[in-house]
Amino acid sequence: MTHFAYRDNILCADHVPLTDIARQYGTPLYVYSKTALTENYLAYADALKKYQHPETPGLVCFSVKSNSNLAVLKILGDLGSGFDIVSGGELSRVIAAGCDPRKAIFSGVGKTKEEIRFALENDILCFNIESPAELNRINEIAGEMGTTAPISFRVNPDVDAKTHPYISTGLKENKFGVAFDEAFDCYKTAAAMPNIRITGIDCHIGSQLLDDGPLLEAFDRLVILVDRLSEAGIELHHIDIGGGIGIAYHEEKPVAVPDYLARLYTRINAWRNKQYGGKPIQLMLEPGRSISGNAGVLLTEVQYLKTNTDKNYAIVDAAMNDLMRPALYDAWHTVLPVHKREMAAATYDIVGPICESGDWLAKQRDLAVTSGDLLAIMSAGAYGMVMASNYNTRGKAAEVIVDHEQVHLVRRRESAEDLFAFEKVLP
Ligand SMILES: *Cc1c(COP(=O)(O)O)cnc(C)c1O
Repeated sequence: MTHFAYRDNILCADHVPLTDIARQYGTPLYVYSKTALTENYLAYADALKKYQHPETPGLVCFSVKSNSNLAVLKILGDLGSGFDIVSGGELSRVIAAGCDPRKAIFSGVGKTKEEIRFALENDILCFNIESPAELNRINEIAGEMGTTAPISFRVNPDVDAKTHPYISTGLKENKFGVAFDEAFDCYKTAAAMPNIRITGIDCHIGSQLLDDGPLLEAFDRLVILVDRLSEAGIELHHIDIGGGIGIAYHEEKPVAVPDYLARLYTRINAWRNKQYGGKPIQLMLEPGRSISGNAGVLLTEVQYLKTNTDKNYAIVDAAMNDLMRPALYDAWHTVLPVHKREMAAATYDIVGPICESGDWLAKQRDLAVTSGDLLAIMSAGAYGMVMASNYNTRGKAAEVIVDHEQVHLVRRRESAEDLFAFEKVLP
């Protein structure tokens, strides 16, 4: 269900009119709903509780890169979430938010020595290793530190996620993970290393998947390896199937999370009982977008209406530096007028003030708006603020979280001085 709905013709976040929030905090502004975040997380956690083996409770590791605001991390951490991180910076955020780094798993193809050391110092749950070279580096650093590193390999199951090429990561020919055919040898090598402790296996095949078929297929591929490893005396403690469940931006019909997990557990249990001798194995997940995406909107104010030859533009105060998905992926975001007006609609391209033709947020939308009106760019909670930049020396938007009747500022708006605080002119 959506937590952004009209009441008396005004779009609200939970029960708070977005007009009131914009008046107090200004625009452009990211607005997240705590209730929505909570419900989206619990869709995973409750399904895990229902199906998981009692000895090996499953773990949801929220993908920090989808929305890394400290308050968002803290809300999820308090609910019991772990974290999927892809940089040392994201680990710093988990710690700064007061969440448990021992529930963090570290993915990414380019982990630096400093990042590996930092992760080991903080006793993270697992490194998702993406190459033999990385394995060597982690073993070496763990050795220098007199410790062992918990690891899994991110295996590329070579299944087609059938999603946008920029967010498809599970095919042979991309940079992520180790090839399926090489994974067994990687594990054998790792098993012989003194400072490596093998704990699991991992994959992440892509993002914005509407159908769970490719994920179930990936699972079937992974357990072939789990069985082979078990026969070779390498017992795994967890299977991490990654994230990737999509959301409805427009008219998509993504699979419901509880249905996906029911089907996944049917496979897990059948496989476990038949081939795996009934041994428990933990399921881990790395969802991002399906938790944060529809929990947030970007609020913006119409500055000018303008017509060039036969095209209408609504020029707003948010831009591609605030929300890059349209410019980057040609992505669709629904645009709603915050105040529903009784006037004739016209068709507009919604564009920002940045000096780039790629600076648009939505195209050819029928809207009844005038200058000064507020628009809500929907489904902006994932891959929104985290991709924001300061292009055109524009300060990043502020962020607020609505918790029923209360509104909390969780990131203040950047000032111009903030933007050049690290710079100086020649002496
Ligand atoms: C981005 C990413 C995720 C999250 O993907 P969503 O589509 O947002 O669920 C999970 N795991 C890894 C390794 C990622 O890079």
